[in-house]
Amino acid sequence: MQEFFNHLFSSAPCLKEWDIYIIKTNKMKLTNTKIYDAVKEVVGEDSVKIIEYLKDKKNISDFKIADKVDRDIHEVRNILYRLYNCNLVTYYRKKDRQKGWYISYWTFNKKRVKELLDKTNKEKLAKYTVRLREEEANVGNFYLCPNACVRVGFEKAVDLEYRCPECGNILNHQDNTKTIDFLRSKIKELQNGHAIGNGRIKGRA
Ligand SMILES: [Zn+2]
Repeated sequence: MQEFFNHLFSSAPCLKEWDIYIIKTNKMKLTNTKIYDAVKEVVGEDSVKIIEYLKDKKNISDFKIADKVDRDIHEVRNILYRLYNCNLVTYYRKKDRQKGWYISYWTFNKKRVKELLDKTNKEKLAKYTVRLREEEANVGNFYLCPNACVRVGFEKAVDLEYRCPECGNILNHQDNTKTIDFLRSKIKELQNGHAIGNGRIKGRA
């Protein structure tokens, strides 16, 4: 069921209707887990270690970061520039007088994580809202493959002669009131700012 729901939501069109909702982001507590999850999702897993180290510090040189996270300097610079491209870090460069080369000093931009999470939540909210409208407009009108390959409306089910085009099983009529309840509770959570940073959909239907 989990996979089915992921499929359901990932295939939903993303309409820009979220402005009618007020997301109470000020309620949200930015935990370390949320920070790491967001950074991992946007920049990649290899950046998490650097953020773990950089999180509560300011203006740390690339050499020191490489030393502390025990990685090659070129690899660390590559990750730092990726983070920079997503506005997750800021930096400045300074010439080292003795060595004669430039050193960059990096600071984590925590504010940006909130923005990213806020954006993700608005997108989720828009998707769920579209799905909810579709479900509400088609109560009792859905047919589902027992293997969850497809889920179609009545007319399409007739076209297919009630057979799944993927696996050939007979499509079952589906009561979608649980789906509607699930979507409503999910929307409520998002509007209250509870689900911020939680990318997983709990399979409750
Ligand atoms: Zn099937």
